[in-house]
Amino acid sequence: MVVIGGGQAGLSVSFYLKRLGLDPGSDFVILDRGPGTGGAWQLRWEALRVGSAHRINDLPGMDALGISFEKADRTLPAKDVVADFYRQYEEFYELRVERPADVQTVSNRDLDLVVDYTDASGAHHELVTDVIVNATGTWGSPFIPWYPGLDSFAGRHVHTTDYVSAEEFRDKSVIVVGGGTSAIGFLMELEAVASQLAWVSRRPIEFLDESELNLEARESAVQMQDEAARAGRALPSIVSGTGVPRTRRVQAAIERGLLTAKPMFASVEPDGVRWADGTFQRADAILWSTGFRPELRHLAPLKLREKEGGVTVGNGASWKDARIFFAGYGPQASTIGANRAGRQIARHVVATLSNL
Ligand code: FAD
Repeated sequence: MVVIGGGQAGLSVSFYLKRLGLDPGSDFVILDRGPGTGGAWQLRWEALRVGSAHRINDLPGMDALGISFEKADRTLPAKDVVADFYRQYEEFYELRVERPADVQTVSNRDLDLVVDYTDASGAHHELVTDVIVNATGTWGSPFIPWYPGLDSFAGRHVHTTDYVSAEEFRDKSVIVVGGGTSAIGFLMELEAVASQLAWVSRRPIEFLDESELNLEARESAVQMQDEAARAGRALPSIVSGTGVPRTRRVQAAIERGLLTAKPMFASVEPDGVRWADGTFQRADAILWSTGFRPELRHLAPLKLREKEGGVTVGNGASWKDARIFFAGYGPQASTIGANRAGRQIARHVVATLSNL
């Protein structure tokens, strides 16, 4: 069997597969685009720290290595800390992740599944398998909503995935779009650097009383994701169901007036954005913190997509094809969700394999 993706979700499933007696590298193979360890975390921006967004849960069995995100160094970039912890974890449990292995397609050949992937040189390789766990996350599928005039903008469109550091926006006029913790983090980073800063959001921001987002406790958000996944609909935005935790930094930023969002603009023009009432704001860059979609392109030949826009997934299993599992999808998309799902999916996979 094949696990596609070596981030939180893929590693968590792999840990439990191993515990259930499957041997990594022979009974199952983990393919990861990489280039290094850490899943999407390795690609996040320099200024992000462990705990500056939400709690990062430990991988199952991480305590055996004597490391924990609870005790991680919060002065170092989260991208480096996570990459380092995950590297140690992969080594300790001998998970033998193959990378870079970029899966291009998964398709049917008679009763088998064929996984086509490319290596660092771009050469294609093929794996033939019975069962797949897809754990590809969302980072590779950034989403920018369409607004009239979007393509006419003469400045820079920057998505969360393109953001490197605040310095590249020094003395620039920047519009930050989005109502989540990434948008808020960017506003705080850009405050002292940009010449002008505006924040726009599709919906009013709900600031929570608690200082740390406990996604699992925000049942409505997880439930919304689960309902959409079970109905095969496109997944809703996580933040619309959770609100934004009021950390000390966020509270201070609210008090100094930084975190007042305007409604969405109506259109984009070559040198800025315009609201429905005619107000205009000049901009050198629009920073789109508008989220992601699940990365599922490589599964297109399997025709799992429903006309409702998503894939139908319940408890991590595809309802259309019993050989395909989804780890970290929808209600499992937080680090705690991905961990818990790992055990459930691994059990289900082993049961499926023994029925074959
Ligand atoms: P990923 O970490 O994205 O791992 C997927 C892996 O699959 C990657 O290694 C990727 O290279 C690989 N892959 C993808 N496509 C292919 C392919 N075709 N072939 C081969 N490999 C492939 N959650 C929290 O709980 N706490 C936080 O603080 C937090 N902060 C976040 C901050 C930001 C800016 C964002 C965007 C998300 C944050 N999240 C946070 C959610 C976070 O994405 C998840 O917690 C976690 O990273 C998801 O793990 P994953 O394994 O599902 O996905």
